[in-house]
Amino acid sequence: MNARVRALLLQYFGQSLLLCPIYFASALLALQLTRFNGGVAIVWPASAVLFSALAAMPHRRWAMALLLCFPAGALAIALRGFGGAYTLPLALAGLFEAWLAASLLRHMAPRFTRFESIRDVAGFLLVAGVIAPAASAFIGAWAAHGATGIPFFNAWRDWYGAHALSLVTFAPPIFLVLRRRRLDAAKFRRERLGEALVLLGGVSLATLATFGQNRIPLVVLPLVPMVAATFRLGRIGAVASLLILICGGLTGTMTGHGPTMLLHLDMSAKLLVLQGYFASVVLILLPVAAELESRRRLMQSLRDAEALHRLIVERTGDVIMRVNIDGTLRSVSESGARLWGYQAEELMGRSAYDLVHPEDEQAVFDARFQALCQPDSTVAVECRVMRKDGGSTWVESHMCATRDRRGAPNGTVSIIRDNSARRRLIENLAHEANTDPLTGLGNRRAFDRAMARDREAGGSGCLALFDLDHFKRINDVYGHATGDRILTLFATLLCGTVRAGDVVARLGGEEFGVLLRDVTLEQAGAICERVRTRLAESEGRSILGEVVRVTVSVGLTRLNPDLPPEEIFRQADAALYRAKGDGRNRMAIAA
Ligand code: GH3
Ligand code: MG
Ligand code: MG
Repeated sequence: MNARVRALLLQYFGQSLLLCPIYFASALLALQLTRFNGGVAIVWPASAVLFSALAAMPHRRWAMALLLCFPAGALAIALRGFGGAYTLPLALAGLFEAWLAASLLRHMAPRFTRFESIRDVAGFLLVAGVIAPAASAFIGAWAAHGATGIPFFNAWRDWYGAHALSLVTFAPPIFLVLRRRRLDAAKFRRERLGEALVLLGGVSLATLATFGQNRIPLVVLPLVPMVAATFRLGRIGAVASLLILICGGLTGTMTGHGPTMLLHLDMSAKLLVLQGYFASVVLILLPVAAELESRRRLMQSLRDAEALHRLIVERTGDVIMRVNIDGTLRSVSESGARLWGYQAEELMGRSAYDLVHPEDEQAVFDARFQALCQPDSTVAVECRVMRKDGGSTWVESHMCATRDRRGAPNGTVSIIRDNSARRRLIENLAHEANTDPLTGLGNRRAFDRAMARDREAGGSGCLALFDLDHFKRINDVYGHATGDRILTLFATLLCGTVRAGDVVARLGGEEFGVLLRDVTLEQAGAICERVRTRLAESEGRSILGEVVRVTVSVGLTRLNPDLPPEEIFRQADAALYRAKGDGRNRMAIAA
């Protein structure tokens, strides 16, 4: 056979080819061993086999599986069942049951067959224990009624009971076995093998003790090691225990042993009781196994989250801080606390506001309040943290609320990042935007702002404009570098002559402005005269060491609060223009 054909055969028939003989064998065995008084088979694992196989295989293979199981089922029924005209409808009923259960699961929730939660188990029971067998029972009962003449309802009830119990009993172990590679196999490391053998040995012994004799009804005994196996080994423990119990129970009962022998019932009723017992055990173990599995997953995700959290806390350069709802510190990451000079333990229980610069307390309080009021959002705030050495560091904090078990906010968690470099940059930029680089004085922009602030505050005083005389000539004669020197010299002289509270700025070129605060025109005039005469008397040096003399002219005006700043400037400028016109090196006061 060429490889292509073999691959094709494997792809389409692989699972189905294996499924077909198993389906046939389970049907034949059930019909052979569990039909009593010519009625329907009391145990019917064939549907569970097909149902589990369909649920585990891709949908595209279903048709092939059903097509192959149909003749297998029909053959078994023809050999050991009602046979005759009812063979095909009965074979169809079996297929229909498995197909219906698998389709419902596929559409409702494919995860039901994983038994990972109570919801999965309940969904499975609804489909396999109620809907599918109840529906197929109509076909089965019709056939049984037609073939044997037993009342339709009795036949329906027998079929439903037998098939529901068989599906609920046999399908979960088969499901879990079919999925074994994805299941708990990984957990079955060598070190657990010993424990597994002991527990499953216990289940075997208890099963033997229960179904190996028919004097004492030890029906609860197997549950003890089975529950232990489920707790210790998870779903695989539950499945293995169930398989042991079902095999042992069926073998014992079919050979005339076990608790059902104490009942004064015929064999078919005994087998129904036995299946009821198996189904009850499944109902006990599966939810336990499912709950354990979902807890295991929860614990795993918790451990993962915790590992990630630890990594973030330990490795990040940010500080992670948890604060209780009353503002006391619950935790501060070790590395973070060190950054500010503290040990993490010494901060525990202290108020978080102890760490906040007093001027920023309100902003932090507001941000926390917002985070607690809107627990789903993250709030950012910039503030200064007080270091242990008394200094402060600018930080940016992103915080969100933490919640208690009921979901109510019970504090905040913050990721805090050192922001001082950015802050410095901003402050430097702001400084540069307001400063003249040559003299270090404020520039025109800073001067205008100061004037506007004074005006708003209702301050009084005078405005003086200074313009160096014939400065162009200084540049021409001594060079630009000397000109710069003279400008710096004059800036120093100006600052040293006016009072500390006055605002001095280089307005542009060789023009300077002074805001003389809270002075009369006379006092301001005296100060300006002092500047002018000092400059006239002082001598600068060129870069070559030559003596450079320079004078300045001044225009002075009062800061009239009723006039706009431009008008005040215009007046001062006009006065300065007059001083220049009158021969320079003098002061003129605006009219
Ligand atoms: P006036 O007495 O009428 O004010 O004459 P002036 O030469 O001072 O006036 P003008 O406005 O014609 O020339 C100002 C000069 O100032 C021109 C420019 O070369 C010089 N200047 C402006 N800014 C700077 C500077 O930053 N450094 C130097 N070295 N010179 C400057
Ligand atoms: Mg000028
Ligand atoms: Mg000038």
